[in-house]
Amino acid sequence: MARNQYAVIGLGRFGTSIARRLHEAGQEVLGIDINEESVENAEPYVTDSAIADSTEEKALKSLGITNFDCVIVAIGDDIQSSILTVMLLKNLGIKKIIAKATSKRHGQVLETIGVDWVIYPERDMGERVANQLLSPNMLNYIELSKDYNLEEIILPKKMVGKNLRELDIRARFKVSVIAIIRSGDIIISPSPDELLQNEDILVTIGNRNDLAKFSNLE
Ligand code: ADP
Repeated sequence: MARNQYAVIGLGRFGTSIARRLHEAGQEVLGIDINEESVENAEPYVTDSAIADSTEEKALKSLGITNFDCVIVAIGDDIQSSILTVMLLKNLGIKKIIAKATSKRHGQVLETIGVDWVIYPERDMGERVANQLLSPNMLNYIELSKDYNLEEIILPKKMVGKNLRELDIRARFKVSVIAIIRSGDIIISPSPDELLQNEDILVTIGNRNDLAKFSNLE
């Protein structure tokens, strides 16, 4: 994996989780927070850290923020600081900015000033939990558009030992199987003759409602 440089501004629970995961994956992460204690707590999970107020242009410049590929603004409750920080980053020409929103309004403002990816952690997690309850066989999903998802679905028991040709999943359920995950290995574009095995995970694409029906099969 290519080594990228990330800066995470705001080392609360959300910011620290992002920094930690990126750091574990071998990426270079600079953690920034106005609060000394937050910086200290996050230190084991970042490559470098700094105590700084991200609403001050001088502070951001002296940290060399313009050298980073991606900056994540994880300031939550202090909406004013979040917006000011994003505006400064935009003016400094940062290529990719990701920011956390705590409300719909906050998110709309962030989008208007050009944040590339606005994240609503609580809303998104709530949706995830509900989707998991509605489709217990669905392990993971990515929203491709308003109506279409890519989903990892545990193979329904009654399909074990059959092949994709006889199951005719695309015609019967309007769901396309693009890969099979079997014991940790991935079979990309599986052949129609591939025999499906117990505990196979199907990587599927389709309309969200069609996928929901498919993932509720026994
Ligand atoms: P979480 O819910 O993820 O814990 P918080 O809103 O509690 O989020 O945390 C946001 C972090 O952002 C805090 O650690 C806070 O000190 C930091 N923060 C707030 N304003 C600034 C700022 N102007 N510059 C840098 N860090 C800031």
